[in-house]
Amino acid sequence: MYRTEILSITNMLITELEEFCISIGEPAYRAEQILSWIYDKGVAAFDQMSNLPGDLKRKLEEKCQIFQTKIGTLIKTGDGTEKFLICLSDGNEIECVLLREDKRVTACVSTQVGCAMACRFCASGKRGLERNLTTGEIIEQVLHCKKHLLPNERLTNIVFMGIGEPLTNYDNVIRAVKIMNAEWGLGIGARHITISTVGTLNGIQRLAREGLQLNLAISLHAADDITRSRIIPSNKQTGIQHILREAQKYFSITKRDISFEYTLIDGVNASKQDAESLARLLRNIQCNINLLPLNPIEEFNFKPPYRETVNTFCRILKKHGLTVTVRKKKGDTINAACGQLRLRNINFYGKNEKFFVK
Ligand code: SAH
Repeated sequence: MYRTEILSITNMLITELEEFCISIGEPAYRAEQILSWIYDKGVAAFDQMSNLPGDLKRKLEEKCQIFQTKIGTLIKTGDGTEKFLICLSDGNEIECVLLREDKRVTACVSTQVGCAMACRFCASGKRGLERNLTTGEIIEQVLHCKKHLLPNERLTNIVFMGIGEPLTNYDNVIRAVKIMNAEWGLGIGARHITISTVGTLNGIQRLAREGLQLNLAISLHAADDITRSRIIPSNKQTGIQHILREAQKYFSITKRDISFEYTLIDGVNASKQDAESLARLLRNIQCNINLLPLNPIEEFNFKPPYRETVNTFCRILKKHGLTVTVRKKKGDTINAACGQLRLRNINFYGKNEKFFVK
């Protein structure tokens, strides 16, 4: 039976856990001790929290759980990338990826089960949106990644670039960011956290007002509305100019750099003319452009361009003075593009049984 009355600690801000402690007749400071065990020391059982009295441990066992998710499949590549398929308590699955590059160790997290955006080249939206993730389901992806760090490694960055459109699960994403940020939580500075969005206008506006120093990445993928609407259906409602305007407002308020993601797809958005149009579109915006050759998904017909086409595209942007990086393809042998592994698993095995973590 699914016990909804059990509280998940990873959903909670410290103030809420303090209130809970008081409600069960315990002092508020116990909250900080409990959270320190979970987030600092990576402990996953109340009975290992040695500075808590036995009585409190028993109450916690009865009323709370630490993990509401568990790791299903773990796949590693030679380049240090690890991909986790995470099982949720309702039988759904999501993905998170641990990426290593020099001293940078990044957790890439999902925010939804599936995605409503239905971008034509992305596996995440292939079967629509099932539901939003809870705050705890987002946080636990980072905790699972942390458990797999090497002894001398530290998690340095978090990117919201897994399955789902983060700004359409706004409240849970912001709560998760607060836990990631907090001293009592994961202790990762907002400047090391990136939210990637397809361009949800009111989401960008709300985010600008949060007073957080988060990096915002815009998945642009085209320099004109006809091409963009062809591959990103939601562009028909938003349009490139509106997105750019909101992005610029975001960056004038937060003073963070703008970055644009551009997935290169052969015959769609990767020609010399496309590069020239993109350079024209972005010439007055102080920004970084991340080029990413398409990670081909079997179910779709799109192909990545040849390496020479990618190089030419990059050269044209640089010639116009733009800052460009070509993202190394990491983890493509393990289906690391958004939603690929989940989709593969659903196609092969169907949905999992429900389970309890407790
Ligand atoms: N919904 C958000 C978060 C997804 S982030 C967004 O759109 O930004 C993941 C990034 O990878 C997005 O830029 C997305 O468009 C891109 N992407 C998705 N599938 C891809 C694929 N098969 N190959 C390359 N990039 C892909």
